[in-house]
Amino acid sequence: RFISIEGGEGVGKSTQIAALAAFITQKGFEVLLTREPGGTEGAETIRQLVLGGSAERWMPRAEALLFAAARSDHVERLIEPALASGKWVISDRFIDSSRAYQGGGSGLSDNDIMTLHQIGSRGMLPDRTLILRLDTKEAVSRAAARDQNQPDRIQGRTEIFHSDVDMAFVSFAEREPRVRLVDASGTADAVTARLLTEISDLLEP
Ligand code: C5P
Repeated sequence: RFISIEGGEGVGKSTQIAALAAFITQKGFEVLLTREPGGTEGAETIRQLVLGGSAERWMPRAEALLFAAARSDHVERLIEPALASGKWVISDRFIDSSRAYQGGGSGLSDNDIMTLHQIGSRGMLPDRTLILRLDTKEAVSRAAARDQNQPDRIQGRTEIFHSDVDMAFVSFAEREPRVRLVDASGTADAVTARLLTEISDLLEP
């Protein structure tokens, strides 16, 4: 099974991914945790090219191509072989981040992004995509407090950008059954419980 976890900045993704992996492992499955952009040597190199700079470093189209290239390597070298060997794969972000950030945020069409994904990764989609959601203002201020000048972020994006990203995530969930919105407010345990509800069918034999 392949699960992707998505969400804006500062929603507590990392904590929840660890909790989810622990739960699935306890159920007796092997779990591969990975992240996007990244996961393989080549894709981590691309990550360094894309993250850490300002939002103006790359034009949206070039940025989308870089993310698609990173994903292609990640899928072919890591995700597909892991799934083929019977593991569960949990990826911290996947195609829906490209659709939300380079699409919803930067204005590329969903069609163009999916075309790149088709070329790069044969359009591969997760079995389930969980989108952690918090009120955007709260999430942005949490992330800002934590991430000033962090090398893992694209710097200088506006609040409008983040709210466009959030709107895009919501629209995917409305149209695509694999995509689920999960309220990320409250305690970490409460959020984990909500996530588990959304994948319980996948854990059934
Ligand atoms: O929150 P996380 O650590 O996953 O964020 C990594 C960075 O990559 C964030 O700045 C996020 O906005 C950015 N990103 C992006 N487009 C993608 C994937 C990640 O802008 N397709």
